[in-house]
Amino acid sequence: MSERALRGTRLVVTSYETDRGIDLAPRQAVEYACQNGHQFEMPFSVEAEIPTEWECKVCGAQALLVDGEGPEEKKGKPARTHWDMLMERRTREELEEVLAERLAVLRSGTMNLAVHPREGNGNSKKKSA
Ligand SMILES: [Zn+2]
Repeated sequence: MSERALRGTRLVVTSYETDRGIDLAPRQAVEYACQNGHQFEMPFSVEAEIPTEWECKVCGAQALLVDGEGPEEKKGKPARTHWDMLMERRTREELEEVLAERLAVLRSGTMNLAVHPREGNGNSKKKSA
């Protein structure tokens, strides 16, 4: 009877030490921010793999890791910019032409603003009847 009690005590002591070990595991606060401007911290064990996104505590939207490299998708598949998409459809020569055209329109537009279109200032192409 007394032996059983002793074993029980030893078991309790052993499990207590194990619990203490878990409690002492170092933690880190990881910051997340959602697109609605909410910012919050989540505690993680330093050994845990930190998720790059987390559900926003305030609004439930997808919140991204603040000091991280962003979602994993970015690594394998870089985000295409508008410039990238443009360069897939047009050559640089075509773009030069478009740019020249637009500049011409812009410049003529500016002149039309300075001078009333109907009056012109002498270099108008329209024939005066
Ligand atoms: Zn939010």
